[in-house]
Amino acid sequence: GPPSNNNIVSSYFLQESEPELSQAEKQKQSLQEVRRSLPIFPYRQDLLAAIRDHQILVIEGETGSGKTTQIPQYLLEDVQYKLSGTRMKIGCTQPRRVAAMSVAARVAQEMSVKLGNEVGYSIRFEDCTSERTILKYMTDGMLLREFLTEPDLASYSVIIIDEAHERTLHTDILFGLIKDIARFRPDLKVLVASATLDTERFSCFFDDAPVFRIPGRRFPVDIYYTKAPEADYLEACVVSVLQIHVTQPAGDVLVFLTGQEEIEACCELLQERCRRLGSKISELIVLPIYANLPSDMQAKIFNPTPPGARKVVVATNIAETSLTIDGIIYVIDPGFCKQKSYNARTGMESLIVTPCSRASANQRAGRAGRVAAGKCFRLYTAWAFKHEMEETSIPEIQRTNLGNVVLLLKSLGINDLIHFDFMDPPPHETLVLALEQLYALGALNHLGELTKLGRRMAELPVDPMLSKMILASEHYKCSEEILTVAAMLSVNNSIFYRPKDKVVHADNARMNFVVPGGDHIVLLNVYTQSGYSTQWCFENFIQFRSMKRARDVRDQLEGLMDRIEVELSSCSGESVPIRKAVTAGYFYHTARLSKGGYKTVKHQQTVFVHPNSSLFEEQPRWMIYHELVFTTKEFMRQVIEIESGWLLEVAPHYYKNKELEDSSSKKMPRKQGKAREELG
Ligand code: ADP
Ligand code: MG
Repeated sequence: GPPSNNNIVSSYFLQESEPELSQAEKQKQSLQEVRRSLPIFPYRQDLLAAIRDHQILVIEGETGSGKTTQIPQYLLEDVQYKLSGTRMKIGCTQPRRVAAMSVAARVAQEMSVKLGNEVGYSIRFEDCTSERTILKYMTDGMLLREFLTEPDLASYSVIIIDEAHERTLHTDILFGLIKDIARFRPDLKVLVASATLDTERFSCFFDDAPVFRIPGRRFPVDIYYTKAPEADYLEACVVSVLQIHVTQPAGDVLVFLTGQEEIEACCELLQERCRRLGSKISELIVLPIYANLPSDMQAKIFNPTPPGARKVVVATNIAETSLTIDGIIYVIDPGFCKQKSYNARTGMESLIVTPCSRASANQRAGRAGRVAAGKCFRLYTAWAFKHEMEETSIPEIQRTNLGNVVLLLKSLGINDLIHFDFMDPPPHETLVLALEQLYALGALNHLGELTKLGRRMAELPVDPMLSKMILASEHYKCSEEILTVAAMLSVNNSIFYRPKDKVVHADNARMNFVVPGGDHIVLLNVYTQSGYSTQWCFENFIQFRSMKRARDVRDQLEGLMDRIEVELSSCSGESVPIRKAVTAGYFYHTARLSKGGYKTVKHQQTVFVHPNSSLFEEQPRWMIYHELVFTTKEFMRQVIEIESGWLLEVAPHYYKNKELEDSSSKKMPRKQGKAREELG
């Protein structure tokens, strides 16, 4: 039976169960036949007619019904579209880069064209399109940036805002901008596609645009809950997968975890236990999927499972609605996701593992019922589902730093942000704080207008602080080094490889790269020393693919330097100019050593150096962190040591002398201290 401590609580999605083709039979069919078998196919003509009749259409359909891959193809195949002789593009946005790449690859295959020709994708730091591209999948952030060069999106005839229910920050901003341009571009068709969530709200926002519903095919999914909360959900996942593998009939398994580290750990544990069980069990194919996974590895999750074996896909919530993997019968849902959370008072942003919403949990369960009746194992109690989970997730716009978006909107000439057409407006204090931060960075003047520096900052497809760091490197004559640091930071904690069975070797290898100054300088050192060979990376426990990506990102950034008129120069690796340039961008992220640990300078919040940091044991007085991550405590990830005086140099209107006095100087006689205060 199912994992032992579970009991069936509910069964839903009961609908007609028309006989579904077996995996093997399906493989034999041509791709065209598969296309015709999708739930959206019977609605093709009606859908095209609705698009013809309405400028803006909301399309609602179950995940896997064919919205993302089929609608653009229907448009391209449509006689009317062909007759119009238009060479204008169809753009389709995705909240996630992996989805944009994977879906584009699939559609190129279905259309028998080479990816990057007629069908392409565009994600940050990677443009896989050409002059011939007429169907472009892209992240919502990339379309947002296209407004900078083409404010009316003149080269597009159709824009599909896909996965609208995800309500990412960029999608929400696109809603406002596209609604606006649709008014003076009556020829532009706007399709808002969403899973079966929230569609009334989209319709309402777009002046009561009609909703086109694609009825889904769903099989019943039995939901199992645990009787008591799980202390270690990672371990519980591993055990559940193995139990399913040993006791349940054929069918693939989908496990939802929160991020790369967890996913890799889970995959390793599964592989290790399978090795130990050896030939006692049948083959278990363990595959990860997360944002930074290289594309050849991503593609593997779609390979059909060989007969006799079972596939386990361990995924982030990308598999909730963005990607559909055929053949999933079992879903394991620990009930968590990683979310950005933002404190509008302190301006601190951190990534936190939090319980997901009931809406998410139901989407996850739904993944088990696409091809046949399925089972979903929730690693939490029925009580927790009812009482501890929110009904829906809070839109990202209400829980994130808006600096990036405010800078972009200002560059588009949208000055009155308070009256921007937001579907759900961000909290007022968050907007104000974003304006203040941009002012402190020098991107806005005291009237809130974009400065020349701000205009240059907006040209770079990175966060304002990183932008500022890059621009400041010009002044400190270390742009070569800073570009490398920026690129290495962008590959996001995936440089060092630390397999469970070789932890000591891996840590030693890592120690060899340590140089004074902090983690940014260590990353620079790794990049400088690294050869282009897989062999070198292997020997030094460096992830080859991450290095390759860092090189790509660096090339892209370097290519942009001309446009923003930053001269390339090198400080020969000397660390002070580099650290000053980092400080110029990240002075918000300053922590100082005080009794019992580190406290952020402005808000006295207790923070900790991440154990992986090269400065873990050093305890410098002042440091700057790249990001805060909340796991067991607030950890600063990627830190450098700085001198407090630099803060006055780089951010004179943000820091006051008084705040930066070292604790030792507090021993000064009061009078003298007072005098200094008045002078400062
Ligand atoms: P929706 O957008 O409505 O969720 P999609 O258009 O993404 O649906 O998916 C339709 C079908 O195409 C699904 O059955 C899915 O399995 C298949 N599919 C999508 N992407 C890929 C891919 N990269 N490889 C193989 N099959 C895919
Ligand atoms: Mg889709």
